[in-house]
Amino acid sequence: MRQAAGQAEAPVAAAGERAAEAGPVRVLYIGGLGRSGSTLLDRMLGQLDGVWSVGELVHIWQRGLKENNLCGCGHRFRDCHFWRRVGEQAFGGWDAVDVDEVLALQHAVDRTRRVPLMCLPALWPPYRARLRRYLDLLDRLYRAVGQVAGAPLLVDASKHASHAFLLRRMPGLDLRLVHLVRDSRGVAFSWGKLMRRREVVDGEALMATTTPLRMSARYLAHNSLFHLLRRLGVPTLLLRYESLVRRPAAELHRVLGHAGRPPADGELGFVGDGWVELGISHALAGNPMRFERGRVPLRLDEEWRGKMRRRHRLLTAGSTWPLLLRYGYLRGHDRDR
Ligand SMILES: [Zn+2]
Repeated sequence: MRQAAGQAEAPVAAAGERAAEAGPVRVLYIGGLGRSGSTLLDRMLGQLDGVWSVGELVHIWQRGLKENNLCGCGHRFRDCHFWRRVGEQAFGGWDAVDVDEVLALQHAVDRTRRVPLMCLPALWPPYRARLRRYLDLLDRLYRAVGQVAGAPLLVDASKHASHAFLLRRMPGLDLRLVHLVRDSRGVAFSWGKLMRRREVVDGEALMATTTPLRMSARYLAHNSLFHLLRRLGVPTLLLRYESLVRRPAAELHRVLGHAGRPPADGELGFVGDGWVELGISHALAGNPMRFERGRVPLRLDEEWRGKMRRRHRLLTAGSTWPLLLRYGYLRGHDRDR
């Protein structure tokens, strides 16, 4: 917003007061590495009444406000009626937000390496001031999304562990975490492939790629942070991508129960054996699957088993084996939880 960053101290009290007035916004956060099925889970949950999927809200400043990319509904961010109303509700319109200031603030606050300071911000007062300022912006944003959506449950597929650590500090949120995991070899293989970002309409843009070794390090670090969140008291459910695709109805049942909104009889009729029926969404950022509608095939992506180089497979398994073991991926192909 067009406010001085020095006004950081007051808004937190304001955020607390707003939370007390309206009650907390319940957010089901999908945490995990990219290419682990988070967009699929997000889209499926968004089919239910009273459950609103926002996509990857962490990217709203850059990919929504700054780049004006496509929303899941097919309109550009600033032309989408849902996001326009959110901007009005939260800030009196998006034009009142100084995008570059918010991006700089996000860059300073929301980093994996800053997670220790998020837990103990008193260690560095300048960071604490920026943290408070950014949390106030997030509080306005999430509250506005909840009000405009009119849904008691928001699904946020932002995935990043650091963002979840921020949300954990917000008194206005009732945060529940789905820790989504996938076999690290599948994740690493997928991150080596080139995929176009369909939400970018001004020219071509590809989804990020990385090497198996870097991906393995990220796999260990990020998943460990989600285990830490659970130990810090965030209600957490572990979900395997492979189980979600093989048994979508049963796993959705489990996830919705965790979110405090168990499905009614017949409510999961939009998922079947090998398919899912998807409607429109206003999801931000994420996998190209975000734009698919109608009956979409549900297929387990295990291309890595046949196509991943042996060297990369061994390297990935060798460096991530403690978590592969923990998640049950070293017990054989067909075993499923
Ligand atoms: Zn939209």
